Amino acid sequence: MEENQLMESGVSELNSNAFFIDPVRILNRSYTRFRVSPSTYYSRFFDSLNSAQSPKASEDSRKGKRKRRKKKKIQSLNEREQIADRRHQEVKPFLLKAHEALLKATDLLKVLRNLRNDGCAVGECKELSQESSELSFMELRGVWQAPLCEIVLNYQQDDKTLQNGGSPLTQSIEPKVTLVFNNLVANEGSYDIEAELFNHKYIIPKRSCFYMSDMQQIDSLIPAGSDCGFNLIVIDPPWENGSAHQKVRYPTLPNRYFLSLPVKQLCHTSGALVALWVTNREKLRDFVENDLFPKWGVTYAASFYWLKVKANGMLTGELDLFHHRPYECLLLGYCDGKDTHSGNSTRLNPIPDNRVFISVPGDYSRKPPIGELLLDYVPGSMPARCVELFAREMIAGWTSWGNEPLHFQDSRYFSKR
Ligand code: SAM
Repeated sequence: MEENQLMESGVSELNSNAFFIDPVRILNRSYTRFRVSPSTYYSRFFDSLNSAQSPKASEDSRKGKRKRRKKKKIQSLNEREQIADRRHQEVKPFLLKAHEALLKATDLLKVLRNLRNDGCAVGECKELSQESSELSFMELRGVWQAPLCEIVLNYQQDDKTLQNGGSPLTQSIEPKVTLVFNNLVANEGSYDIEAELFNHKYIIPKRSCFYMSDMQQIDSLIPAGSDCGFNLIVIDPPWENGSAHQKVRYPTLPNRYFLSLPVKQLCHTSGALVALWVTNREKLRDFVENDLFPKWGVTYAASFYWLKVKANGMLTGELDLFHHRPYECLLLGYCDGKDTHSGNSTRLNPIPDNRVFISVPGDYSRKPPIGELLLDYVPGSMPARCVELFAREMIAGWTSWGNEPLHFQDSRYFSKR
């Protein structure tokens, strides 16, 4: 039953507060002509499949070691780490319950093991090409010609409107050429399209747009019309990481820079749900609760958790290991709009606290696309206006902003349907 739900929607309910998700299936709802290739999305965590041990046996054998290590560690925690540990102990029962539910769902586990090969015959799965390198948008933006760089959007006419004696035709129409930086680039059509930038191809989902700029230009996203703001604002900032040897794939910014994000001005008049990804560092949680949310005008509402598993259903790391937890937190809060106090706001479903989403991670720091699962809690009328800040990919119906929103739109990550 869970596996049927997963196949259909990419989301499978494990219990009333826990879900297993397949990001590839969710992302693929944005595309009609192309599909996100599972073998390029799931670039990690599938090698563990060769392990002979069952998930349950491996878990049990680790428990003893884990307990000993945990005991030793707690004695040497400083004050801030002790607060973090208390937070961890509070959420742990929810994470364990969700994980147990996954381990019991044997049919779902079978599907999980095959997610990387989904839809392709053995040996035919697309691998990320080693020859073609990705375009570095940050390098490109640094050259003096950057303000003149153009992207070409290659529209195709709607197949159904071009029926020719029963056989559908695909006919190109005039490409649209537009500036790629500091410019809102939109595909307003109901089909995904291919875009070209230098010799690279990008797949742009239907009804989506991106604005590629540095944080200094984010004010250009602030809507001119009062009811053109956003009802859902997902933010995944490039937080600085405390660990010096942590591999960093993009530039990071000190916390204080995020105080100037114009979250309030981006809000719709009927208010917005703000979803902020945070790391498990207590210093950051403290900053968000006491400085960032108050400065943005956001009132905290609930926390969701993303629990990371390998293809064999085991956690990607030990739950109690202090600096490498196998989960991340999404803090949810509300930002009032101009209409929120005038009685014009729509009634909202209360957000459940400690909801857990389980998935196999994709590339480094890539978050699962759970925006759609937040729609029940978004204020204002439907369809909600949604934006992702610091985005590296695009979703149908959304605006993506950041210095590399086309990163995962590279055609390397897609195959033709
Ligand atoms: N949510 C993304 C995902 O799932 O793939 C990951 C976002 S990552 C944590 C942060 C992003 O912010 C990176 O793409 C990084 O290049 C971008 N970034 C860093 N400094 C920036 C700046 N000054 N202005 C705009 N974007 C910036």
